[in-house]
Amino acid sequence: MGAWIMEETIESKLEEYELINPPEDFVKQANINDPEVYKRAEDNPEKFWEELAEHIDWFEKWKRVLGWEPPHAKWFVGGKLNASYNCIDRHINKRGEKTAILWEGEKGDIRKYTYNELLEATSRFANALKNQGVEKGDIVTIYMPMIPEAVIAMLACARIGAPHSVVFAGFSADALADRINNAESKYVITTDGYYRRGKILEHKNKTDEGISKAETVEKVIVVNHLDNEIEIKPGRDVWWHEIIESADSTCEPEKMDSEDMLFLMYTSGTTGSPKGIVHTTGGYMVGTHVTANWVFDLKEDDIYWCSADVGWITGHSYIVYGPLSNGSTIFMYEGAPDYPDKDRFWEMIEKHKITIFYTAPTAVRAFMKWGSEWPEKHDLSSLRLLGTVGEPINPDPWWWYYKNIGYEKCPIVDTWWQTETGMILITPLPGITPMKPGSPTNPFPGIKASVLDDEGNKIEPGHGGYLAIERPWPSMIRTVYGDEERFINTYWSKWGPDKYMTEDAARLDNDNYFWILGRVDDVINVAGHRLGTMELESALESHPDVVEAAVEGIKDEIKGEAVFGYVILSSGSKEDEKLKQELRDKIVKDIGPIAKPKGIVFTDDLPKTRSGKIMRRILKAITNNKDEGDTSTLQNPEIVDELKRKVKELD
Ligand code: ATP
Ligand code: MG
Repeated sequence: MGAWIMEETIESKLEEYELINPPEDFVKQANINDPEVYKRAEDNPEKFWEELAEHIDWFEKWKRVLGWEPPHAKWFVGGKLNASYNCIDRHINKRGEKTAILWEGEKGDIRKYTYNELLEATSRFANALKNQGVEKGDIVTIYMPMIPEAVIAMLACARIGAPHSVVFAGFSADALADRINNAESKYVITTDGYYRRGKILEHKNKTDEGISKAETVEKVIVVNHLDNEIEIKPGRDVWWHEIIESADSTCEPEKMDSEDMLFLMYTSGTTGSPKGIVHTTGGYMVGTHVTANWVFDLKEDDIYWCSADVGWITGHSYIVYGPLSNGSTIFMYEGAPDYPDKDRFWEMIEKHKITIFYTAPTAVRAFMKWGSEWPEKHDLSSLRLLGTVGEPINPDPWWWYYKNIGYEKCPIVDTWWQTETGMILITPLPGITPMKPGSPTNPFPGIKASVLDDEGNKIEPGHGGYLAIERPWPSMIRTVYGDEERFINTYWSKWGPDKYMTEDAARLDNDNYFWILGRVDDVINVAGHRLGTMELESALESHPDVVEAAVEGIKDEIKGEAVFGYVILSSGSKEDEKLKQELRDKIVKDIGPIAKPKGIVFTDDLPKTRSGKIMRRILKAITNNKDEGDTSTLQNPEIVDELKRKVKELD
């Protein structure tokens, strides 16, 4: 990629937004409300992290805060700890009877675990795993829907020092097989089935199919979640409820080294084939514990809901390890957001008096499309903080979320981070940072994020470049499992081994706020002007009839590339030439004539990953009539042919 400078004129649109101060009442009570914290962290980052590491319980203290031989970091060197101990045991005296997990099934059934109960369930299952032959260092694959046993399984693995590899239950048998094979995992934990939109999904059958393509699996542990008939393979399959019966209810947590692997997690596969990201114990626990506390402002009586799946990094860091290490009550929901109706989430927030809600922009856009009449049916006044993660949240959905869900009294934390970063890196601190809709604002204290050009020079505000992290942080990726070369090449070779390449494009504005422009690979080059996808999409989405938009580059003989748009309209809007013209005009007005779309297609859906992100690689193939390649991690593969047909019709 050549020098990457964006035209000033193209950058104007999103600058117009004002700063929105966090509500005064919120600021007063916030865990962190003194901006001095940024300075303290900057003065001595290692000392800053060392002080924060005191918030975690250690069996043995570290000897050195950081060993940094770029790109290899060791944090809290020599320290010994256990993640499950930090999430459970240390709360027992103070809050043993407090609810740790509050779970609701799709049918409305409710289950609760207090911290005491979570300790017993985790310890029993940890012993059961040992009895099945699992040893410290064995990678255990967890292929489970959103049920409490998924969290218990993760914590039990952590307790005995067996790294887990959680595979999203919605993934196909092939995706499961790939991940088991990559990790050479001998143990799989699964369920008989689960509910999705009222239908039973035969999860055990899918598990069996996946395992038939994996060579290493010796034992499969099955949770009886639905009580439905399934095939049990003698000698290989065992029931969860049977193996815990004979297991002891106390289990000494393994003393893990700070740098022992805690888990392996595959990236979403938005841009290429998934990478098995390795996270270790000490730094990860410090990073997720502190960010959960500061960013979500966790308090003793909060009911915290992160609607991500445990199959994503967000589920790991901000359903399990961050909130539980803070002794929080976490809410989990099994099913779909529109079942039995489109107000399911709001109904649960009202019923359980949920105070903190963390979700993805894709969900916010869906809520927006369904209409504000759904949240209006419910009292959401228990909420005091909202969050998003996973994609840029364009200003329009931000405002919708702020007004309709947060009643303009909840700060929104737009958190930028990645599977590789383990913890939130760019985010508002809700008691300090004035918000700007569409911007994740500033790096977390101690994090050094920059916008760089190809040579690694800083790019001045107003111009786009590569988002880089220039200093190690505790919960950073340690390697790509089994592929050290990919680790180095992907993240640490652009500017040398001490600067982390995020593969995202970003720019700073004049207040030094970060704006994520899109993926580096998705930048559209129109006659030498490099345009990020985010601002083009925001321009389309600011039209009142549009709920979601995606843009891609299409080959153009004169300009090299031109902008091509896909647009989802709100229900009731008319798909006609007049509207297309309005959308073209909108882009020309907001971004500039150079960005005028060559074509616009109306659609009901876009190709999305299972975590709800637009699968850019596939949209690009559709736009340019190329082979779409691997679609196994798409949630809606049928959309590919439909969009190809629509694009063709435009010719
Ligand atoms: P792969 O790396 O396999 O292509 P992925 O990057 O989608 O998949 P994740 O680690 O789940 O996998 O997602 C991290 C990416 O999500 C970030 O690099 C960024 O592009 C996007 N992202 C996450 N949070 C935000 C946010 N708040 N604003 C903008 N983009 C975000
Ligand atoms: Mg990525």
